[in-house]
Formats: sequence, structure tokens, C-alpha cells
Amino acid sequence: MDSFPISAELLKLRGGGQAMFHARAAAVGAPHFGRRVFIRGVVEVSNFCRENCAYCGMRRDNHSLARYRAQYDQLADLLIHHRPASVTDVNIQTGEDPVAVRQVVIPLIKALRRETPLGISVCLGTLNPRLYAELKAAGASIYILKFEMAVAKDYSRLEAPGTFHERLEHIRLLAREGWKVSSGFIVGLPGQTQRALLANFEVARLLPLAGCSVSPFIPGEATPLAHAPIGDIDVTLNCMAMLRLLRPDWVIPAVSALNLAGPGSGYRRGLRTGANLVTMNLTPPDMRADYLLYKRDRYIMTEERILSAIAAEGLKASKQSLASFYRAREIRRPAVASAVAEVAV
Ligand code: SF4
Repeated sequence: MDSFPISAELLKLRGGGQAMFHARAAAVGAPHFGRRVFIRGVVEVSNFCRENCAYCGMRRDNHSLARYRAQYDQLADLLIHHRPASVTDVNIQTGEDPVAVRQVVIPLIKALRRETPLGISVCLGTLNPRLYAELKAAGASIYILKFEMAVAKDYSRLEAPGTFHERLEHIRLLAREGWKVSSGFIVGLPGQTQRALLANFEVARLLPLAGCSVSPFIPGEATPLAHAPIGDIDVTLNCMAMLRLLRPDWVIPAVSALNLAGPGSGYRRGLRTGANLVTMNLTPPDMRADYLLYKRDRYIMTEERILSAIAAEGLKASKQSLASFYRAREIRRPAVASAVAEVAV
């Protein structure tokens, strides 16, 4: 279903009307996911980045950042032997750093595939098709590649990776190659018009995605946008609800930046819009401070915080990994399609 009419009026909802709209959004996801929420651990392998996005503290022009690449052994031991029990999937994330992909990420995926039942996602930026194939052969199945914003002119003004059209082409290529692709966009980027914000839904709708995130803009330290205002939490949440109504079957995360845009309640309100994926940061604490997407004083979602937010919203942590959920859905869909075809005959 992708016929939900996106409208500027919905961005303005507040108070009781907003709560009802969010509840309506959460209800349409239930037939697809029940009340379960997937819990994905994230490890940040490298903060080297060859890109220069104006909205990100890891941009290559940020010379104040101590750059690191994690050691394979340290991360493998952590994820194989010491991960929290509720984590069913892991997302391996880097700045755009093909060296780290070859030296650390691919061996790590192979080890996780051999030693654990974890579903494996990667968020590594735009790479070449050969590297995508190597990552997939190693055992990853979900690729996170955000298109960030819907207007090519803004994309180039904010120095996002490559060109907007290349970014979309990479998303399509990954989907064609059998990846489950999750994308995402940012709400409240400096200079973003209402029209540009709404255009994100059209871009997302036309892409071959399995999931999509909505993140509030957070002004990153040591970036050209450091003094710009933070993205509005209510607009962000209304966008999450609109996205859920547009695509009830997509996996939509409650991103940790909701805690920064809406301190105290943003994250739980995100779950109330029908978000069904949360991430737990497993990066060793000595490296975490330099993985500077936004600010050094990051609000870290620990297992305890995540489980208590899920329980408080009357939701349940999924025991099935997201990767396995996608596989099962893939098997079910052709079966349903052939049953429908038989009935039609
Ligand atoms: S958003 Fe990603 S690609 Fe852009 S500078 Fe940050 S880490 Fe690099």
C-alpha cells in the first residue's frame, strides 16, 4: 500500500490530534509486525571518511577529530562472546572508508556468520559494486544507504556524497543485487523548505526499499552547520507517522537522535508512531567519543534503556532477527502470490 496522501497540514499536528494521528500510524504497522520491535546492535568500525557532508562531524575537513580504525579481534570478541542477549542483528558502520571495509568489516562479517546467528546489516557509504558483492558473499544481507534529502540542488550544496542521482542509482543497484535496502532522510536541514521536506516521501516511495528512517537534523560539532537550529521533534515525529502510513510494511527505526531533538520523550514518542527497530550502541567506549556524527556528549542507548522504553510502550523485543524476518517474508510472498494465481485460475 502506498496511497496515503502526504500533506503539509499533517506536519503541523500537535497535542491530541497529533497523538491520534501517531496512534493511527502505529495501528497500520501491526498486521505486518505485531507489537514487536527489532533490536540491532551497532559497531562503529572506522571514523575515517573520504566524504565531506556539511551535516556530519566525521567529514574529511574536520581536522580536529582523532581518526581510528577498530581492530578486528576486539570487535569479533565483543560481538561473538559479549553482546547483550536481546541483540538479534548487528549493524557494522563506518565513515566512507573502503580500507576499513576490506581490512576489518569483511573479516568481521565472515566471523559473525560462522560463529553467530546474528542478522548482519552494513552502513558503509557508496562503494564499488565489487565491494558490495564481497560484503554480500561474506554474509551481510541488509544495506543502509540514506538518500538524506530529496532535492539534488540541496544535496550538492550540503556536499553529500557524490551526486543525488548517483546515490539513488546505488540504492537501486543494491536492491537489484538482492540486498534489503534501508534508506533515510533528514528533517530540518538548514535551508530545507516545506516542499523539499515533503519531496522526501515521493523519493522514498519510488525506491526499492525494505525500510526507511527519518532523522531530525542535529547540528554537528566542527561542521559548517554547527550553529544552525536543531530539527523540530514534532515535525520529525509527524514525518515518521506519515512514512508508516505510506508504507505499513517497512521497517522504520526510532533513531537515537530523537533523544537529542526531544530530550526525555522523543525516543518513546518515536515508538508510538509505529517505529519498529531500535539500535543499541556496542562500540567500545574508548572509540565512541571520536565517532562524531553530531556531538561528543552522545546519549547512548544501553540495553536497559532500550528494553525499558519498549516495555513502557507495551511493545515486545523481537526474538527473530530482522534479517531472518526479511528472509521469511520473501519465502511467504511468492507462496501467497502463487496461491492467488491458483484461485484466479
Ligand atoms: S555522513 Fe557519512 S559520508 Fe558523510 S561525512 Fe559523515 S560519515 Fe562521511
